[in-house]
Amino acid sequence: MSCVFCRIISGEIPAQVVARDEGATAFLDLSPLADGHVLVIPDRHVARLDDLDAPEAEALFRSVVRLSGPIRDALGADGSTIGINNGEATGQTVPHVHVHIVPRWKKDGGGSIHSIFSAGNRRDVSEVGDVLRAALDGR
Ligand code: 5GP
Ligand code: ZN
Repeated sequence: MSCVFCRIISGEIPAQVVARDEGATAFLDLSPLADGHVLVIPDRHVARLDDLDAPEAEALFRSVVRLSGPIRDALGADGSTIGINNGEATGQTVPHVHVHIVPRWKKDGGGSIHSIFSAGNRRDVSEVGDVLRAALDGR
């Protein structure tokens, strides 16, 4: 088993585990972006969010929803940024799905999700809408 997150679930390598829910484990990030930066991972080793089946996805997000408020409040934070790097192109470094919960404070100097992206030429919105409606129809 080479995946570092699988090894954290099994207890093979140490981590600051903060919660074990049905189907999901939450632990502190080794290189936190803020105090209380938690990663929530599904039990099964899959790389991408869309590789999870519906019960696994429900368990993962149930855990994220359950934990996000108490994590924020325990750290005295004002909110949290919750995100997933989904695929190598997005900067995902560990190929085991993980949801970042990062506590945020009003004046912490960080940006919003919008700050990740640069402006650039974009396809016409209605054309993109057509493409996606066609791709998602019946799915
Ligand atoms: P990614 O960039 O893939 O979205 O995030 C991976 C995260 O996993 C990083 O924030 C990194 O600090 C964290 N991480 C990598 N290896 C370990 C580890 O062995 N233990 C813990 N607790 N976190 C890790
Ligand atoms: Zn894994």
